Amino acid sequence: MTANPDRYAVAGFPVKHSWSPFIHGLFAKQTGQNMVYRLLEIPPEHFRGDVLAFFADGGKGLNVTLPFKQAAAQLVNRLSPRAEQAGAVNTIIRQDHELIGDNTDGIGLVTDLDHNLGLPLKGKRVLVLGAGGAARGVIGPLLTAGVAGIHIANRSVGRAEELVELFKSLGAVTCSTFAEVTGEFDLVLNATSASMNGEVPPVPPSVIGERTVCYDMSYGSGDTAFTMWAKGYGASLAVTGWGMLVEQAAEAFFLWRGVRPQTRPVLDAIKKPMPGKKS
Ligand code: NDP
Repeated sequence: MTANPDRYAVAGFPVKHSWSPFIHGLFAKQTGQNMVYRLLEIPPEHFRGDVLAFFADGGKGLNVTLPFKQAAAQLVNRLSPRAEQAGAVNTIIRQDHELIGDNTDGIGLVTDLDHNLGLPLKGKRVLVLGAGGAARGVIGPLLTAGVAGIHIANRSVGRAEELVELFKSLGAVTCSTFAEVTGEFDLVLNATSASMNGEVPPVPPSVIGERTVCYDMSYGSGDTAFTMWAKGYGASLAVTGWGMLVEQAAEAFFLWRGVRPQTRPVLDAIKKPMPGKKS
């Protein structure tokens, strides 16, 4: 590493668990980029001030994670079309004197499903559990990828109704509480943070048929509460969100550095147990 590497970070609260420094460190090494990537834990009341200070101090780019994705959309000077559609930002790019907000979560998920897992989305019936920042980021790209329809279920049904309003012009989108969901789906996406507490959203197991794929955006070492639940009810495949995490990071890296890193070696490195690093 030469002097004065370009500085990047991920802002969140809490953020200590984030694998983004590890992933971007491997991308930088693989592509020979002179940069560092750190954790930026920000108490919610300091979000705006600390982010502006990071950029005023020369920071080149920022990832934004839970719980700041919607606040970040309010802070930037300009939104990319996909961030505007989502009303949520997970990547901030400094361009001259402007901060541009983008959202790479959707492309990250679609690339993981379609490219890494070989699951084409066209014509699929999708159930999205959750209506927070992650759900906002993926619903538009899933509809654009040609899914037949999306049903959104959330604990606070008002937040799901907001998403129906936001995305109904792009395709068939409906919503309900968890308990009211009926029928079977091709793809069940857990976009809640329930797995972080070892919980499963209380959706009827009848949403799972023998060809259903269940995808938990949360990730940890091995199965999550949701993937265990899905396997127990006979899902054809139940996976965690590592692939989405690495693919959304690759897209952010490309936006910042203009170089597209290879994701397969990074996914392989994550799967190897590492001393001192807890998934
Ligand atoms: P938010 O805080 O914005 O939203 C959380 C969502 O989870 C809300 O819909 C909330 O419901 C729901 N929820 C929380 N706890 C429970 C529970 N016990 N039972 C049912 N629903 C619950 O978080 P994000 O949307 O940003 O993130 C959600 C998850 O997705 C996190 O685990 C995050 O790590 C993961 N994620 C993974 C990514 C990846 O690349 N793999 C990228 C982005 C996110 P309510 O509205 O009622 O409060």
